Amino acid sequence: MTELIVARTPEELCAHLAQRVGQAEARNLAAVEQRRAAGQTEEDVAPEAPRVATVGLVPTMGALHEGHATLIRRAREQNDVVVVSIFVNPLQFGPGEDYDRYPRTPEADLELLRGIGVDLVFLPEVQTLYPGGEPLVRVTSGRLGELFEGSRRPGHFDGVLTVVNKLLNITAAGASGHPLRAYFGQKDAQQVALVQRMVADFALPVTIVPVAIVRDDDGLALSSRNAYLSAEERTAALVLSRTLALLREEGLSRGYAGIDLDAARQRIEHADGVELDYLEIVDPETFEPPTEDSRRALALAAIRVGATRLLDNMDVV
Ligand code: AMP
Repeated sequence: MTELIVARTPEELCAHLAQRVGQAEARNLAAVEQRRAAGQTEEDVAPEAPRVATVGLVPTMGALHEGHATLIRRAREQNDVVVVSIFVNPLQFGPGEDYDRYPRTPEADLELLRGIGVDLVFLPEVQTLYPGGEPLVRVTSGRLGELFEGSRRPGHFDGVLTVVNKLLNITAAGASGHPLRAYFGQKDAQQVALVQRMVADFALPVTIVPVAIVRDDDGLALSSRNAYLSAEERTAALVLSRTLALLREEGLSRGYAGIDLDAARQRIEHADGVELDYLEIVDPETFEPPTEDSRRALALAAIRVGATRLLDNMDVV
């Protein structure tokens, strides 16, 4: 098993990443030479070039759970070198939000990363990523960043995209031209859509890989913020995934027009201890109502249970 390297600065990350990529490339070359030596004819082996080493990045805010682990395992399966970043990004939290009390579990996180065989973890301090304080120049998330989560959390997506842009640039520098993939959870559907747009709009040298939502056995979408829930709140929160599952059944059996969104909203509003923030059906690329051209339709919801905001979504068509 490879040793997990902890990098705390971009320079450390780049240096270690370049080294791991070099080692992976040497292994790939050795594998080809081994096949050649194993007596395969020149004809069999000649066209085969050593596989180019690839890098997978999984950006997180830590307090890692099975949802993160799924993204990281996917990255491990698909790449030669895997980098996980853990950074609670102050830029994406609004005033009065939970930045200070956001769960931080560094020891358990490192244990989980070692178990999966991650190569490198990037653990920068706030001053390291933002040495001059809050950055003057930021990515703006545009209209898509003002809808849903963006309208409830002004500036949130600008903060997300600014840090993701920075993490992608730092990792791409370390990957030095080797293919780079970055893994994002469908749990944060609007975030995935925005990151994909940013990558396209800025021609960033990375492929974004979306990963399906990971749920507990009872259907609750895994989230670091679930740690805030009391046992009663956790039970109450189940109305969210159950209502989305009903919408999905309606959508799959009767089509988009057969979905009763008002009944679904009422079901959530009537649940004890739960406040509905929004429940809508959108095109998951634009977050506008689906049109005839939409490839998918997504039921998208946010609720508040006690002091905790929870997000979830499900494909309905
Ligand atoms: P976070 O640490 O909450 O910023 O999440 C880091 C990444 O993990 C994001 O791309 C999330 O969308 C993803 N993620 C978090 N929870 C889940 C989940 N339950 N299923 C799939 N992906 C998730």
